Amino acid sequence: ASFWQLASTSTKEKLLGGLLVPGFDERSCLSRYHSAFYGKTMARSPSAHLIKRLREHEALQRRCGPGTEAYRSAAARLRSGHRNNGSDGDDNAPGACKYLVLVPYRGLGNNILAVASAFLYALLTDRALLLDRETSLGDVLCQPFPGATWLLPKNFPIKNLQNLTGEVPESYRHLVQQSGGAAAAASRRSYVFVDLDHSCTYHDKLFFCDDERRFLRRGAPWVLMRTDGYFVPALFLNPAYEGELHRLFPRKDAVFYLLAHYLFHPTNKVWGLITRFHDAYLKNSDDRLGIQVRVFDGDTPFQHILDQILACTSQENLLPEVVTQEPAPAAAAAAAGGARRSKAVLMTGLSSWYYENIRWKYWQSATATGEAVSVYQPSHEEHQLSGYTTHDMKALAEMYLLGMTDRIVTSGWSTFGYVGHGLGGLTPWIMFRPENHTTPSPPCRRAKSMEPCMHGPPFYDCRTKHGADTGKLVPHVQHCEDMSWGLKLV
Ligand code: GDP
Repeated sequence: ASFWQLASTSTKEKLLGGLLVPGFDERSCLSRYHSAFYGKTMARSPSAHLIKRLREHEALQRRCGPGTEAYRSAAARLRSGHRNNGSDGDDNAPGACKYLVLVPYRGLGNNILAVASAFLYALLTDRALLLDRETSLGDVLCQPFPGATWLLPKNFPIKNLQNLTGEVPESYRHLVQQSGGAAAAASRRSYVFVDLDHSCTYHDKLFFCDDERRFLRRGAPWVLMRTDGYFVPALFLNPAYEGELHRLFPRKDAVFYLLAHYLFHPTNKVWGLITRFHDAYLKNSDDRLGIQVRVFDGDTPFQHILDQILACTSQENLLPEVVTQEPAPAAAAAAAGGARRSKAVLMTGLSSWYYENIRWKYWQSATATGEAVSVYQPSHEEHQLSGYTTHDMKALAEMYLLGMTDRIVTSGWSTFGYVGHGLGGLTPWIMFRPENHTTPSPPCRRAKSMEPCMHGPPFYDCRTKHGADTGKLVPHVQHCEDMSWGLKLV
């Protein structure tokens, strides 16, 4: 966008409908205020209540974050193994600072979903959110809170956060099983560790039912949490948060979309990758299709997956059919009549084989519609190398670029794909995960919403205190298209 375009775009648009505050240094993070000019109009607007709560939360991060007196004394108490002595300590004084330290892991998509979920939990429970530094998030994303860092200081008293498991005595799992009550057990510990790994147990997942009467809401100045995924749907099943979540998100399908637009602003280097690719390959097309290919059976190319992509895009009319005769009638007609429609296909994947095949298909043959189809793939890294900054920069850039398309096909089970469509406010066509190396039938289906899927949901109803099908408790939390036991907001 030129200077004049930028100047004439309303401030409201630039601040994403009030989601963002003005006042950050623009040059240090161009994407923060400029993403609006690349994206389409906002797919969903933030509620007035969400905007108010974000501003309050920013104030909390400034009041409690690293560098403040509140942080220094809370960290000192943690270092000295100070116990959270019920109601008599400073920890429970009104306005006392409480913290959520997030330890995210696995790939960048997993990390991003974990951060969005943890942020919402922190907002709901008035905790300052701090991120473990063992990931490249700090290298690829700008800071979201004005005047406060969200990165955990290097001298944080508890080391090797990535090695914490539900086995530690501080774990929620152990605390809820103590006779005498969890609150009393928590008061004997200086922190509580919440393990939400795939291997976590029934008792770990009781965390999702933690409410006013339980100890996390009341005490526990330090909560440490290890997760690699999107747990927001489970928060929507907890009666303690129901009213507040409804006010924050009157439309339940846009939670990730809004949180992501608030939190995730690529750093200038990543933004350069995004904008240069967009301007060179996507901007001038009439129509953009994203195809995200994620293969969980190994990094070698698979014919059944290529077949699945082609079957899905053909069945859902996302890509035009080709004709074998020359000259193709539609192409001849389009040539005579002037301009023909152009369609850009943005493919992402670790392998370039799928892209090469689809590109060749539309080079070798003309389309029946006369459309000109161009196929691009920004990178092919061959293998997952999460944690390496350049690799993760490309991954983030590609998730963003997927979000800039008009329609999108994603691979089921992939958090990379969830972030791509979720950022873009796009309801994807999800390709089912193949079994036994065979193309699934049907190959894909349109999702119910743009929300990510929660892969490790609870199977417990907080209200009745019994096991339950958690996809049937409230209308806006349903099972996912790509994972039958998963949960998503619709
Ligand atoms: P998931 O494993 O599909 O759920 O997604 P994650 O993002 O959590 O982990 C996969 C990681 O593999 C990514 O973060 C990248 O590091 C890498 N990766 C997978 N697919 C792609 C891709 O299409 N492009 C790039 N650049 N990296 C990818």
